[in-house]
Amino acid sequence: MYNMDSGLLGVATGVAAAAGFMGYAVRGRSSSVFGESFYHGDRSRPVLALTFDDGPSESTPKLLDALDKYHVPATFFMCGENVRRCPDVAREIAARGHELGNHTDSHTRLDFKSPRFIYREMAQAQTTIQEITGVAPRWFRAPYGVRWFGVAQAQQLLGLRGVMWTVIGYDWNRTADAVVERLVRGASNGAILCLHDGRELRAKPDIGVTVEAVRRLVPVLLDRGYRFETVSRLLCPKT
Ligand SMILES: [Zn+2]
Repeated sequence: MYNMDSGLLGVATGVAAAAGFMGYAVRGRSSSVFGESFYHGDRSRPVLALTFDDGPSESTPKLLDALDKYHVPATFFMCGENVRRCPDVAREIAARGHELGNHTDSHTRLDFKSPRFIYREMAQAQTTIQEITGVAPRWFRAPYGVRWFGVAQAQQLLGLRGVMWTVIGYDWNRTADAVVERLVRGASNGAILCLHDGRELRAKPDIGVTVEAVRRLVPVLLDRGYRFETVSRLLCPKT
């Protein structure tokens, strides 16, 4: 009886450990299980990368003005559907010197999808961004940070590298105060900060919290001696 109980306990522990591992593999910010992925840069340089997901949107230009005020470059992970809805905004982001990344075509969760589906989501976004802006993204960020079987191969075929974040702002459901506090606390050498200039595929999203947080956050971080770089410069300073 004792042995049977401990055997069952062992199986249960094994199942829980496997589930825990899958959770980490799929969503862990430092996980490279489903493809090479970065979540921070060189910890010896006082540089940060501001990144924005889910755009472009009709609301992005306000954010571009806030960044221009401090001459700060950022990286925008765009969805193909949003680029087709707001092509002028997508071009404007590139024209103002920011880097463009791939955030899939339709912002669908990739877990439990086929490798073929995942490739099409990533390839469609890559084609759209390239056709509309003339820029081929080099970096991929999965929607909700969720990776799956097939992402690694799609990244390789499309010349993309995965990137997550060091700290995420939760700017879609918190106050500007809370977002600023969280990001200031999370900022450290080489950190990648994640915010949103869109809200999934919504048209005319309210990104007031994000814009307000950026207006307050950037001067505080510059005062602390940080410089801002695009993801490519932060992660590959020599190229
Ligand atoms: Zn997203």
